[in-house]
Amino acid sequence: MIVGIDAGGTLIKVAYTEKGKVHFEKYPIAEIERVAGWVNGLGDCQVCVTGGKSGVLVSLLDQPAQEMVEFEATHLGVQVLLKEMDLLEDAYLVTNVGTGTSIHCIQDNVQERLGGTGVGGGTLIGLSHLLTGVTRYDEIVALASQGSRDRIDLKVKHIYEGKEPPISGELTASNFGQDLFSISSDLTKEELLATVIGLVGETVSTVSVQAARQCRSSTIVYIGSSFIDNPLLKEVVKSYTILRGSVPVFPDNGEFSGAMGAMSVL
Ligand code: ADP
Repeated sequence: MIVGIDAGGTLIKVAYTEKGKVHFEKYPIAEIERVAGWVNGLGDCQVCVTGGKSGVLVSLLDQPAQEMVEFEATHLGVQVLLKEMDLLEDAYLVTNVGTGTSIHCIQDNVQERLGGTGVGGGTLIGLSHLLTGVTRYDEIVALASQGSRDRIDLKVKHIYEGKEPPISGELTASNFGQDLFSISSDLTKEELLATVIGLVGETVSTVSVQAARQCRSSTIVYIGSSFIDNPLLKEVVKSYTILRGSVPVFPDNGEFSGAMGAMSVL
């Protein structure tokens, strides 16, 4: 068996090939010992580990494992996923919305990190919890999908009252920017959570579209576990990216890019 593992800040992503078929699993980082136990019980296998917690995982393994830098692993994994979907181009951007967000330009098979933002999946969970008390990721995204941002976000059209704005009035002028003092106790969890996802999605896509100017492509491949079962985040990112003139792509199993890339070098 060959096994690729991406041990990140929040989740451990595992890709493995058995009888020619690729399988995917994910675990919370708190279960790193369980993952190590699973690998140790496999017996005859080859393992490559990547991600910020790869050192911790390798120290728990009985057999030697290959390690690789996560940016390289992610790049290789994205290549495999895009090829499978027949979407591979010579140049594109990759925005990995993990615990934090990292942006890369891939040109002629070479990846360069252009930057990133601390606003990412960790912000989604942390801010959501602080504002509403909700703890579980699946509950956060389910409630958010029923909420409206209308009473919380300030749009450009709200500022340009009775006057034609110089940019689209539908753009967000300020996330959480409406006069909230008088309605703060009246806002629902659904509204607050939808607005957190709006903040994360608009930040991530805005930074990505700006980074695309440094890359000769306007295709932005969005990956990372923050998109798992999260149609609202996908929709915010997709519509903002298109509005700013770039082309968003969400590959199937994008959250397993690092694990796939690690597996691909074995
Ligand atoms: P990392 O490699 O830094 O762990 P990921 O790409 O795995 O990053 O993304 C982590 C983010 O995915 C979390 O911050 C959260 O927003 C989201 N997420 C998706 N599913 C879960 C889950 N089951 N538990 C916690 N977070 C999840």
